[in-house]
Amino acid sequence: FFMKKADIGLIGLAVMGENLALNMESKGFTVAVYNRTVPGIEEGVVDRFINARGAGKNFIGSTEMRDFVQSIAAPRKVFMMVKAGKPVDELIEQLIPLLEPGDIIIDGGNSHYPDTIRRTGYVESKGLLFVGTGVSGGEEGALLGPSMMPGGSPAAWPAVKEIFQAISAKVEDGTPCCDWVGEGGAGHFVKMVHNGIEYGDMQIITEAYQVMKDLLGMSADEMHEVFKEWNKGDLDSYLIEITAEILAYKDEKGEPLVEKILDTAGQKGTGKWTAVTALDFGIPLTLIGESVFARCLSAQKELRVLASQSIQGPKASFTGDKVQLIADLKDAVFGAKIISYAQGYNLMKEAANEYKWNLNYGGIALMWRGGCIIRSIFLADIKKAFETNPALENLLLDPYFKGVVEKAQAGWRRVCAAALTNGIPVPALTSALCYFDGLRTAQLPANLLQAQRDYFGAHTYERTDQPRGKFFHTNWTGRG
Ligand code: NAP
Repeated sequence: FFMKKADIGLIGLAVMGENLALNMESKGFTVAVYNRTVPGIEEGVVDRFINARGAGKNFIGSTEMRDFVQSIAAPRKVFMMVKAGKPVDELIEQLIPLLEPGDIIIDGGNSHYPDTIRRTGYVESKGLLFVGTGVSGGEEGALLGPSMMPGGSPAAWPAVKEIFQAISAKVEDGTPCCDWVGEGGAGHFVKMVHNGIEYGDMQIITEAYQVMKDLLGMSADEMHEVFKEWNKGDLDSYLIEITAEILAYKDEKGEPLVEKILDTAGQKGTGKWTAVTALDFGIPLTLIGESVFARCLSAQKELRVLASQSIQGPKASFTGDKVQLIADLKDAVFGAKIISYAQGYNLMKEAANEYKWNLNYGGIALMWRGGCIIRSIFLADIKKAFETNPALENLLLDPYFKGVVEKAQAGWRRVCAAALTNGIPVPALTSALCYFDGLRTAQLPANLLQAQRDYFGAHTYERTDQPRGKFFHTNWTGRG
């Protein structure tokens, strides 16, 4: 009796896992599937899948882990798509005794990169290989082609490359939005930065929306037209596109649904991880940081309502040229977006330094070009910038980006000034502008700061009229 063994096994038949399994099968692979069976809670997940969406297709379903592992051809590839955190460690422990040297455990969930660094070392110590891969694109991406950012044991890449690149999204010329990122936690690190950038892109768009709504008094339909227009140029991206669609969507009463949605943002933590990592590395990732905090402030709804009833501020009123301000807003959104990516790339560079990852920055932009939430036309220019100069220190030093930000800044400044004057919060747009100005300021006021530190804590300082590395202390008060 001969039964064809599966090309790959997939654990976790929730939204993402189920769609990834269907994607793999649709590309000609036989897929073994497994989901834990918790009596009384989630019984029959595997059977339900095999009999419904998986019916008549090349799936091998198992409800026992041992049967599942045995149904996969060696060297086995076991793709876990489960809740990040403890479940991943538990599954690794269950898999290790059942697998053989050279088999590959893959974690496609949103795991935090330090966990992936640890797991790669641990799984390798057991004679197996480990891949931690970022998967972006939500449910639809999982089914039709996600952006994939794999890292882990380099020896695993040749074995999983074919399946990964077959199921991933492709750019126009057919290049897969999936390539090897680097060792250990590199893939999940890049996925984390992707999610942080997603927070930033979303925040920038919502700030433009609030300026249009509260300062220019535009209707949802009018804003729909603006975003639709923006989606045709430099800002052409998935998030601008869905924003336009959201603004046009009417509820059962024929009114814009978006205006009836409670203004408290949720978050699952990947934006926070990005910001915390930036703080740990000492990299100014201000726009993403502000985006995370903006969600936190939005969640303090009761406090805001209370404060709005008692604290006075300017009443928003705009008397200038509305068409001009909308054009300025486009520049502001574009300028801030460039800053956000410049900051995100700086964070990746620092991490690569720290962890000795040989990151391909142009390749990362390419992986984000399709399939994922931050996909955009603009990423092609980032790819170009790093192709031209792989050692590019900051995106803003690339001639193209330097040029467009220089051009965008006048409008961007007008938007920030108008928003601040009228009391409309635009933390991402303004903090990005301050970073831009800080970056191009040779002389920052940190001389005074160093003097303060030396005054109260004898922390010493260097002098501009003396060689670097020579430290001075002053008795500022003349007291002993
Ligand atoms: P999820 O709700 O994050 O995870 C549910 C799956 O994990 C179920 O199959 C569940 O099995 C399994 N699971 C939970 N605890 C387990 C344990 N202790 N042992 C074994 N299995 C366990 O589902 P999801 O939304 O499909 O996401 C899967 C992963 O992909 C997550 O890491 C998520 O962050 C990541 N991701 C999600 C998206 C998205 O758009 N949703 C996008 C990119 C990445 P039961 O059925 O038995 O509960």
